[in-house]
Amino acid sequence: MQLKVLLLSAFLLLKLLFLYIEEFVHLIRALRNGFLHLAYAINTVPDKGWPTYVYHECPNCKRISPPDRNMIYVTADIDESSKRICRYCDTVMNPKKFIIPLFGFSTQIEYKPKPVGETKPARYYATQTQFWGIDDLTEKQKAEAMEKDMSFKGKAAHITYSPGGKLFVLNQGMNGRGLRVCPTCGYTIDPSTPLKGNEHITKYKKKCKSKKLINVSLGHEFSTDIIKIALPSHEVSLAGTQDKNQDMSVLYAILEGASKALDISRDDISGCVTESRELVLFDDTSGGSGFVKYIYNNFDAVLREALNKVSGMCGCTEETSCYGCLRNYSNQHFHDMISRGLAKEYISWLLYAETDNVKNAEEKGISAKTSEVPEEIGIKTFSYEPEDTSANPDTLTQLEALRDDTDDESIKRGLEKLIAAAADGNFENPITDSKLPTSEKDIWPELFWGRSRVALFTPGTENQYKILKKYNWYCYMIGENINAELVMSHIRKEE
Ligand SMILES: [Zn+2]
Ligand SMILES: [Zn+2]
Ligand SMILES: [Zn+2]
Repeated sequence: MQLKVLLLSAFLLLKLLFLYIEEFVHLIRALRNGFLHLAYAINTVPDKGWPTYVYHECPNCKRISPPDRNMIYVTADIDESSKRICRYCDTVMNPKKFIIPLFGFSTQIEYKPKPVGETKPARYYATQTQFWGIDDLTEKQKAEAMEKDMSFKGKAAHITYSPGGKLFVLNQGMNGRGLRVCPTCGYTIDPSTPLKGNEHITKYKKKCKSKKLINVSLGHEFSTDIIKIALPSHEVSLAGTQDKNQDMSVLYAILEGASKALDISRDDISGCVTESRELVLFDDTSGGSGFVKYIYNNFDAVLREALNKVSGMCGCTEETSCYGCLRNYSNQHFHDMISRGLAKEYISWLLYAETDNVKNAEEKGISAKTSEVPEEIGIKTFSYEPEDTSANPDTLTQLEALRDDTDDESIKRGLEKLIAAAADGNFENPITDSKLPTSEKDIWPELFWGRSRVALFTPGTENQYKILKKYNWYCYMIGENINAELVMSHIRKEE
């Protein structure tokens, strides 16, 4: 029996260490799922302390600001003068400590797991993830990183994709009150547990000689692929949402939209809001799985599906949210803060509102008149991985070739307009003689730009044009009435 228990402890320990090496995120998931109440102590190693950092959490809006880069000694007192003011709600934030339990956890010696049913009900361990910056990228990673400007009816957004995004995960204990930990033996308890004079027994069932317990959270950091989205600012006012958070609401709508539009499991992606109010979406698997890159490439479709998700089909009232729209298990910490209506109002403003944001449009070389043209694209999606066209003839060359090829005067004039609009820009190279595999049938545009999702058709192929228009592609018939500037405004410019 004794051997069995020892083996079990050793197994758990090994398993945890293995998890540490293999997969930090899964360890955090184990923590999140309440493993901690099986553990008795956080392992210590003689002469080695746990890496320890100071961070701040806003007691009002619950936002966490990233830790200082510098580590402190685990037993060091936090300088009370390092209070900070929350950048969102002006509340004073107290400094807190988190440790990285680098050496794993263990149960007490001779620990007998209770049969299922006798164990305490699962505790609520709030886990939060926050963006900590971008790692030093390798040359290969640098080559993979990309960014683009997007324009929504003249409103500018910027989106960045990068591998090597660094995130930190915090487990702040039950109801956010942290854990009390003995730095000497690793003994760990919930701060609400009464403890006479801090006396405690070590995991080896000996009386610990130390009586100094410290209050900490548990933390971890991991690297994964991220996208960072800077959206134009627009404060929605909606009755009953004074205590709700618009950024968080939009963030969770986008995650839901991405999951639905691109068929990604909602558990595989996650996100947070940075101090500068950017949204960071990340692959919730160590190292990244390409999900956020897919979101980067299909952001229009994601937004449209996000809007669908918060349109009210779920039945909850606008000032709140439910499991049918924005809520799920992993964001329970924020359930009280997210409002379906705030997300809905913001995203529909972004996608559809005609603004007087002429300046933005002008900066992008789109005339004010053009940006006012209402333009709808379809919401259906199909899976299509844009091919590398860097070796193709450029946009200008291909448009000119089409012009020289046609005898139709209207098409010729349309192409002349496009050529003029494309003259001063280094655009994505287009593709010709290739198909787009929609779920209905293969579509063969005259010319298309895969990454920009812009396709041109010629008279005689109206049917094909109509089908592709149901998808999240910008589709145009070439003719003398074509709005060439509008067409070109949707095509990605290369660096
Ligand atoms: Zn705050
Ligand atoms: Zn101790
Ligand atoms: Zn709902």
